[in-house]
Amino acid sequence: MANPKRKHSKSRTAKRRSTKKLKIQNLSVCPNCNSIKPPHVMCPVCHYYKGNLVIPVKEKSKEK
Ligand SMILES: [Zn+2]
Repeated sequence: MANPKRKHSKSRTAKRRSTKKLKIQNLSVCPNCNSIKPPHVMCPVCHYYKGNLVIPVKEKSKEK
């Protein structure tokens, strides 16, 4: 089995991640409230995703 000879340093991993995160600039519009949100993610404004209301985690903990 081929294995890397040395572990990547923390700075090397951080440099790679920092450049890849800059490429993520996708934005979609929420069909419920027309606000800008990241795609494939629940809307942070109205908590809707694919037409369904997603209940926030904070409210579920209060019921218990
Ligand atoms: Zn929304």
